[in-house]
Amino acid sequence: MSFDHIVAAEKVAAVAATNAERVDRDSTFPQEALEVARETGLLGLLSSQRRGGRGLGLRAACEVVERVARECGSTAMVLTMHYCGASAIEAHGNDAERQAIARGEHLATLAFSEAGSRSHFWAPVGSAEPSGGGVALTATKSWVTSATHADVYVWSSRGLGGGDGCTLWQVPAGADGLRTHGGFDGLGLRGNDSLPVKATGALVDLDSCMGKDGEGLAIMLGVVLPVFSLLSAAGSIGFMEAAVVATCRHATSTRHQHLGSSLADLPTIRAYIARIRIDTDKTRALWMDAIAAVEAGREDATLRVLESKAATGEAATAVLDTAMRVCGGAAFRREVGVERRFRDARAATVMAPTTDQLYDFIGRILCGMDLFD
Ligand SMILES: Cc1cc2nc3c(=O)[nH]c(=O)nc-3n(C[C@H](O)[C@H](O)[C@H](O)COP(=O)(O)OP(=O)(O)OC[C@H]3O[C@@H](n4cnc5c(N)ncnc54)[C@H](O)[C@@H]3O)c2cc1C
Repeated sequence: MSFDHIVAAEKVAAVAATNAERVDRDSTFPQEALEVARETGLLGLLSSQRRGGRGLGLRAACEVVERVARECGSTAMVLTMHYCGASAIEAHGNDAERQAIARGEHLATLAFSEAGSRSHFWAPVGSAEPSGGGVALTATKSWVTSATHADVYVWSSRGLGGGDGCTLWQVPAGADGLRTHGGFDGLGLRGNDSLPVKATGALVDLDSCMGKDGEGLAIMLGVVLPVFSLLSAAGSIGFMEAAVVATCRHATSTRHQHLGSSLADLPTIRAYIARIRIDTDKTRALWMDAIAAVEAGREDATLRVLESKAATGEAATAVLDTAMRVCGGAAFRREVGVERRFRDARAATVMAPTTDQLYDFIGRILCGMDLFD
């Protein structure tokens, strides 16, 4: 039977919708929705068919994450980081791990951000030292989504033995010497299980090196950045779509009884609703063009990818802020369906590359400069 990722995404979205309030309120990992993703084959969406995956591309992953984000930001975030890790492993991991992901047996994530270099993921300060026949990793990773639920981390370090550049490693989450810290009690994406992970001489095999030693930045920029940026944008678009629906529903169903009119009868309210629809559509159009640019290998693909993460992250933050205003004091209550997305949407602007870093990168490209000094 042929695989329809839209049908599968609808199944995940249905479970995510049922559990979203609880996931957010209790900071619970969205395990049930992830199980549906696993059963329907969505965890192996980007893996090659040869290895048992679905063999679909980034556009399909974008569609899945956007649909799920309308219902539950935490579930969308976990899928986003899985697809980022899965893409890197598909391109540069070992065969056993590729197959485990393709079959939906393993959940992947990225362990890039560090306490030392913070959002500057391109400059890890953690080390990788030869040890016996293997490699000992030492680092304090500051945020790892799905930290206690993932099976495999795509891990960045300095070059082997203090060498130049950055190197990526495929690290089993259960490796000796790895420790997660605390629980996640955040403003938004509260179910995403994003925790610090400390490695103290965590031992991995030498063949866990992804690509060549020192090639990590090239993989980050060439493989991971487009996937992360476009999926982050997918999440932001999903939040905006949900905001438009919730805001229209509230405005048309809420009445000023003494005037005999609804909120939607106020021109100001209608104008705000129009503006959030326009912002959603404008940024969606840019995002769709970025996906098309990547698929066609267009010259402006990198620029479009960076633009769409910046534009959608900022737009979602503004759109959800407007939705809070339109829905008034009522929006402070969970049942209106806006405040959770208002909190969730804010994360996109600070996830690396942050919006301000993106503005710098985009400006550098436009001025013909290198991305990094
Ligand atoms: C919910 C959530 C989940 C996450 N999941 C993961 C994950 O799975 N894996 C992972 O590796 N990371 C993850 N991160 C981390 C994320 O990618 C960023 O690294 C992190 O949010 C940066 O926060 P910080 O306080 O370290 O930022 P800082 O680096 O301290 O930045 C603070 C401010 O300075 C600005 N700034 C910094 N450098 C520049 C610059 N060069 N130009 C202009 N402005 C600059 C930033 O834009 C920001 O506004 C997650 C973050 C969040 C919030």
